[in-house]
Amino acid sequence: LQGYVGFANLPNQVHRKSVKKGFNFTIMVVGESGLGKSTLVNTLFNAPLYPPKEAVGLSQESPKTVGIQVLNTEIEENGVRLQLNVVDTPGFGDFINNEESWKPILETIESRFDAYLEQENRVNRSKITDTRVNACLYFIAPTGHSLKALDIEFMKRLHNKVNLIPVIAKSDTMTNEEVAAFKERILMDIAHHNIKIYHAQHYDCDDQETINETKDVMSKVPFAIVGSDKAVETSDGRVVRGRSYPWGTIEVDNEDHCDFVKLRQMLVRTHMEELREFTNDIHYENYRTEKLVGLGY
Ligand code: GDP
Ligand code: MG
Repeated sequence: LQGYVGFANLPNQVHRKSVKKGFNFTIMVVGESGLGKSTLVNTLFNAPLYPPKEAVGLSQESPKTVGIQVLNTEIEENGVRLQLNVVDTPGFGDFINNEESWKPILETIESRFDAYLEQENRVNRSKITDTRVNACLYFIAPTGHSLKALDIEFMKRLHNKVNLIPVIAKSDTMTNEEVAAFKERILMDIAHHNIKIYHAQHYDCDDQETINETKDVMSKVPFAIVGSDKAVETSDGRVVRGRSYPWGTIEVDNEDHCDFVKLRQMLVRTHMEELREFTNDIHYENYRTEKLVGLGY
């Protein structure tokens, strides 16, 4: 259970220059309270980015709007520095009227585009800080039914602005059969509503192993995830990250138990660079163009 994440595994994933300089990766988590967002972030980066609630003494008073909470941390692995930024959106979907829950989130994404645009327009562009959101993990409640109106509304409002990655939260609360049926249902809903989610690409120049890996990762979408930052002991005496039940242990890092490993592999190991590219070449570019047209250029 050491702090190894894996982003430095593929030196060719990032350009040599960014390896030396270090690079930014910004990930956003959205979903109703209690779906395991904070836990998953801790599990993904193997670090207590979120201290336990008691320790920081967060007030019990419920806020009235969706908040934006940013966590920045630097991780270094094999000499590669990663500036990791997590944008959390506490309060999403928690109110009696959630109609505009997506709004503050969209505004955050756009204001980060604006900040980048502003830096690009400066005379001295040598020190651009890139805080654009590279991926948005959208947490779907493990209901087993279909997407809620709130889910659909959010994804439709945001899919042209960010790489959307839907995940089934707390998938340990469903059986394997339920998860499989739910995934199918979610994909049908997504297609029916013309929602664009992130598709990891493979390229002609990729070797067969990489192509198979990418196809395998994509076959898991929407990722059924389990988060846990606690070590538990399995019946055969191994200590793993997982969740214990009277009938056994769900292991976070076991691919037979959930899709956590696949999600992490895509985010940090195989497609981090592509997520950053899509952010720049597609989402940011669209935003920039729209903005310039709006200004009469
Ligand atoms: P957030 O409000 O979305 O940030 O949710 P938290 O990460 O604070 O988790 C809320 C509660 O759900 C905590 O008691 C967690 O221990 C629990 N939890 C988090 N992830 C999982 C999971 O994958 N499965 C189950 N069963 N519980 C989880
Ligand atoms: Mg949280």
